[in-house]
Amino acid sequence: MSGTCSYHKRMNRKSWLAFLLVALIPRALSQGLPELGDVSSADFSPQMEKRIGEEAYRSIRFQEGSFVDDPEVSAYINGLGRRLVASSTDRNKDFEFFSIQDSTINAFAMPGGYVGMHTGLLLAAQSESEIASVLAHEISHVTQKHIARSVGKQSDLTTISIAAMVLALLASRSGGDLSMLALAGANAGAIQAQLNYSRDFEREADRVGFQLLTDAGFDGHAMASFFGRLQSSGRLGDNNAPAYLRTHPMSGERMSDIQNRAQFLPYKQIPDSLDFHLVRAKLRAAIGDPRETVLAATEQLRQKRYASEAAARYFLTAAFLRNRDLAGADREMANLRSLKLANPMIDLLEARLQIAQKRIAIAQTIIRDSLSRTPSYLPLRYALVQLLQDAGQHVLALRESEDLVKLAGKDADVYAMRARSFAATGQQVRMHQALAEQYYLMGALPGAVEQLQMAQKAGGADFFQSSVIDARLREIQKEQAPPGKPR
Ligand SMILES: [Zn+2]
Repeated sequence: MSGTCSYHKRMNRKSWLAFLLVALIPRALSQGLPELGDVSSADFSPQMEKRIGEEAYRSIRFQEGSFVDDPEVSAYINGLGRRLVASSTDRNKDFEFFSIQDSTINAFAMPGGYVGMHTGLLLAAQSESEIASVLAHEISHVTQKHIARSVGKQSDLTTISIAAMVLALLASRSGGDLSMLALAGANAGAIQAQLNYSRDFEREADRVGFQLLTDAGFDGHAMASFFGRLQSSGRLGDNNAPAYLRTHPMSGERMSDIQNRAQFLPYKQIPDSLDFHLVRAKLRAAIGDPRETVLAATEQLRQKRYASEAAARYFLTAAFLRNRDLAGADREMANLRSLKLANPMIDLLEARLQIAQKRIAIAQTIIRDSLSRTPSYLPLRYALVQLLQDAGQHVLALRESEDLVKLAGKDADVYAMRARSFAATGQQVRMHQALAEQYYLMGALPGAVEQLQMAQKAGGADFFQSSVIDARLREIQKEQAPPGKPR
């Protein structure tokens, strides 16, 4: 959720890298790398992979300001990603898809199934299938265990260089700062050789990804069109394009493989979803000078230069709203509504517009009506809880957020929201419990332990609640225990 975690986001990319290398490696080591035993066997276990990926994901999510903390963008990219994963042999594997506010065209897979995409790529794609083709390629790097296999090729590495190498692989996603590697005391030469996926891995990810793409019902031609465009803009020296090509090296062979595969596909028009257009409109409305964005959106509508009229009107409404021109936003919202489309993103935009005009009751009604049509759309639930909290209706907010605990129980923000309402209703013990879960999910185990100890001391807990707190405390302390001991 925007707002709730902004205080965690003051680090820029360079300090994020420093954080990864200085803070994360000792942590990763204390949390399990030495359990590997014989590293030369290059057994990069799924558990270790998950742990490293999780750590890296948390550090991006909670330490780096460019993480796109927007439930709607997140719902969209996860929906697309899950559709692709559903047609893979690893359909039960946990994947997490997220986006990074960055105008360069790039995407990356981290160990454990964490797949990130730059907003620059989301905006540069010319169809939903193009975005899906990149996601499918990244998913395949994960399912084919390319990171583990890259690491495994080095036979005589110490554990620390393995961790450093994984982090270097991650850092390379944005053309990474190689000098940081020296800090890790690793063999920079060996690591640099491994920074990019090998060409073989690239071709394998294309091949497996193509299958996912077409099995999930996307346009198989999109892979060739997107990579082809990237390659030609790379040749023209466009600074934005090569980022992806640096981490996923393109070769003539690779390109012709991609083209050959699509060649025999029947031509079939696959329409983009409305959400594809709306998510891009939302991202575009949020960047640049607010007034210029209004002008650009107005111009686009006037010249009818759009693939979706609804998205063009959404873009202008959101641009007006950001520029605090509420009358303009109201006017354009009416035009958008006249298109008679039922879509929760449009509902949420209208609710935001009502909130900006302090019409809280109307905003609540819009969100509740929308929830009754699309109960599984989580961004509506987040918005409702936040709205109730801002209106001081904390008892209701707690009741509504119970569903979020069930549906999005791995999201630290859910617990941050609940802690706020527990605090407002004077429920100290539960507030500390919620904060403990928030810190736990952020990977801050000492903070989680501290909160549970405060819950123990707060007083007022009944026997059942006390034993729940004690059990949870033991569980987390066990996770904190030095490696080597059974968990
Ligand atoms: Zn690749």
